[in-house]
Amino acid sequence: MIIDIVTIFPKMFLSIVGESIIKRGIDKGLVKINLHDLRDYAKEPHKKVDAPSYGGGGMVFRVEPVFEAIEGILGCSIYPENKKNSQTKVVLMSPKGRQLNQKMSRCFLKYERLIVLAPRYEGVDERIRYIVDEEISIGDYVLSGGELPAMVFVDSLVRLIPGVVSDQESIKCESFEKNALDFPHYTRPEEFRGIKVPEVLLSGDHAKINKWREDKSLEITKEKRPDLLRK
Ligand code: SAM
Repeated sequence: MIIDIVTIFPKMFLSIVGESIIKRGIDKGLVKINLHDLRDYAKEPHKKVDAPSYGGGGMVFRVEPVFEAIEGILGCSIYPENKKNSQTKVVLMSPKGRQLNQKMSRCFLKYERLIVLAPRYEGVDERIRYIVDEEISIGDYVLSGGELPAMVFVDSLVRLIPGVVSDQESIKCESFEKNALDFPHYTRPEEFRGIKVPEVLLSGDHAKINKWREDKSLEITKEKRPDLLRK
């Protein structure tokens, strides 16, 4: 999968592409992440990517550099006919979007290429939405820019690409995979300040351990997120 991120702060993304799980996915050749500075697609002399919103109310990303960026990335005109049946999807990070969840992230795995727009200021010129396939929100709150939401989206997606996380079985048991929350985990030491690891986990009996984990997952989900069980 190729993920192109369009941003005015490409350096903010260096930490996620250079560390941990996403880096592992890149190193294994399972994902390629390209960072694009929107300013590179804005016109001289000032390379302005933003302008005041008509009617007042702050600055927004201008439509021209965003179209130029996406067409530059794809190497073709995108509007409108080239987008039909495309294996490339354009995603806009926006508080007005559909709220991200595990199922949505998994759905994006089927595409060959994603272009992720991470705006700033008050958002984008509405005409940018003509070329957007999906608007994604990461929750009902407003952040200063789309960079963190884009990182959240990309991380949630990349770790689901088969082979990125070494232990694929562990992914299947994670929270939200089965409309339930993860079971409790313990590690060494067996006892810490009088608090013991549940005996069943030390028993070596995998049938019993699995049953305990399923029961705990259910119990925790009932307590913390009963809405998941109703799904
Ligand atoms: N004026 C916008 C509104 O009220 O909906 C908020 C703009 S916000 C300051 C700037 C940018 O941050 C947004 O265009 C979006 O890209 C990003 N952003 C902020 N909160 C977000 C969220 N919860 N989910 C996704 N993107 C978000």
